[in-house]
Amino acid sequence: MQYIGRFAPSPTGHLHIGSLLTAVASFLDAKANNGKWLVRMEDLDKPREVKGAADDILRTLDAFSLHWDDCVVYQSQRHALYRAALDELQRQNLVYPCYCSRKTVQENGRQGIDGMVYNGNCRFRQPEHNAKQAAWRMKTDNQPIVFEDKIFGIQQQNLQHDIGDFVLLRADGEWAYQLAVVVDDFHQGVTHIVRGADLLVSTPRQIYLAGCLKYSVPQYAHLPLLTNRLGQKWSKQTLAPCLDLSNKETLLKKVLVYLNLPQPIPDEHCANLLQWAVKHWKINRICRQFIISE
Ligand code: GLU
Repeated sequence: MQYIGRFAPSPTGHLHIGSLLTAVASFLDAKANNGKWLVRMEDLDKPREVKGAADDILRTLDAFSLHWDDCVVYQSQRHALYRAALDELQRQNLVYPCYCSRKTVQENGRQGIDGMVYNGNCRFRQPEHNAKQAAWRMKTDNQPIVFEDKIFGIQQQNLQHDIGDFVLLRADGEWAYQLAVVVDDFHQGVTHIVRGADLLVSTPRQIYLAGCLKYSVPQYAHLPLLTNRLGQKWSKQTLAPCLDLSNKETLLKKVLVYLNLPQPIPDEHCANLLQWAVKHWKINRICRQFIISE
């Protein structure tokens, strides 16, 4: 089987040290397995998108010699694929329209492990034929979803209890991340996913969706998160500093240390550093702890 990996940034800001870590780890794992490394721009959330960020991310990857295979895929151009997947789930009677407002969901739900668990109000109702736009929710069931993460080990979730029926298409017409990511990973032939541990909670939903759509399920490795001193994931909201491209080698070496590559790490330019790291890459050297970075 050919290894196909990917890096799937959301263009909501510049690449920062946390997203660089994910890019480097997914790149090294793909290349160490003689695989392809794809880049997919997850640009579905238009309100959160920052103008110019997608190009800026690509330029930054390029500056670090993180060269991707094939063409970059943009989720904003793939609505027809998501629609076809939703139609298929509808054909199987696995989705239903939901007319509840965010407020009703908050008031009538209970707290789950990733937000509110929807109380299922619309699941057992006849679809309304009114002017109001519906969201579409996936029916969850009571079967435990179990999988083995290469870094975090065996994981288990009961979707009905822990998550509840989740949204695939929002009432404002935007596709939810959970559906888009599964459809794209399948259509791009992705076999291995290496990404941040903040998405570990989403993986069972994605495995479940893949199963319902008769897709093969990729292998997963979730990376420990890079956090600031307050234990917050680096992001635009936690004011992650911009990467200083005049200092690329130092940054890349820092990332290679976080990823526990053997030391000393040679003094080389990015392309050679990456080549060296591919040779020495062992995913099982990565620990589960969060990594604090300044
Ligand atoms: N677009 C997501 C993010 O930037 C990553 C999605 C994924 O790797 O599945 O957090």
